[in-house]
Amino acid sequence: MQKKGKFPSSAINKNIHIFFILVLPVFLAFVQCSVEKKQDVEEKRSELIQPAKWWEKLPRPIYAKLEKVDTGQEWYEVYKLVDRTYAIYEPYQFEEAISYLVIGKEKAVVIDTGTGIGDLSKVISELTHMPVSVVNTHGHWDHIGSNYQFEEIACFNDADCINRLRTRVENSSLQSSITGDSIWKPLPEGFDAATWQIPPVEPTMLLEDGNLIDLGGRTLEVIHTPGHSPGSICLLDKKNRILFTGDTFFPGPLYAYPEDVNINDYIASVEKLKSRLDEHDYLCAGHNDPWVKSDVISLVSEAFQEIMAGKGEYKEDKGIRRYYFDGFDILIRVDMIKN
Ligand SMILES: [Zn+2]
Repeated sequence: MQKKGKFPSSAINKNIHIFFILVLPVFLAFVQCSVEKKQDVEEKRSELIQPAKWWEKLPRPIYAKLEKVDTGQEWYEVYKLVDRTYAIYEPYQFEEAISYLVIGKEKAVVIDTGTGIGDLSKVISELTHMPVSVVNTHGHWDHIGSNYQFEEIACFNDADCINRLRTRVENSSLQSSITGDSIWKPLPEGFDAATWQIPPVEPTMLLEDGNLIDLGGRTLEVIHTPGHSPGSICLLDKKNRILFTGDTFFPGPLYAYPEDVNINDYIASVEKLKSRLDEHDYLCAGHNDPWVKSDVISLVSEAFQEIMAGKGEYKEDKGIRRYYFDGFDILIRVDMIKN
């Protein structure tokens, strides 16, 4: 007797056979096709913005000339630049983010806090016992990742920047930055890729153009340099003649293409930095190299003029052009260029 609702075993076997012979291959072909399509799209994007095997050119030559400091933290490499000034570099993730610890006689600041993948406050505690507060050069995720580890947080008085700090960066939007070609070394022990996120923080201090941040015997001047983002700033250490540039300049492809870029502001900010070249000799950039001769700013100024005049060598993909220059590149949207 056959119970209602149950198939005889021979019918189940037949259905399984049909599934394996007819349905499964079609399903697998579909999955493979869509995966290939996705990879195709990502590869095309990556060649212009994220070249394949980008880490093969590491270590960048500048690092052999700098004094390396061992802090026992595998995710970061730390370099002493001048007295009481350290670059905290993340070489294993595509952004190659760099944060800077600047120590005065009374207090210290960390300029940007990197991706948040490593334990930044632990590294800093190996370098100073002074109270450390954060100064953000702007609100992009790869600069604010470890903000949550600190009590005092400053950023420029700009709505976009403040909002970015107040907004959680969700795990889903960070996944592509810690998978595939975005990393080339294991993530730090204890780091949980499945739950990692950048928690929201509340800025405790809002900065204006021309403000002086007094660290005791050492000051940092806030220079508003909108363009890469509306709230972008550079910080000038006049005494040591160094300028912390965030993403306004770094020796790599300058990001002048994302939605929050204002190209006219960006160009004006480069001119502003150029007009103050007599006050600094070296740039401490937000990515790649922590020690770049300041005169490159003149070349960036010329480069933007060239691009806007319709000149310069570039590669183009999906409305974005990468222009090639000596010591840096510029990624810019075609619609930003006046022809
Ligand atoms: Zn940025």
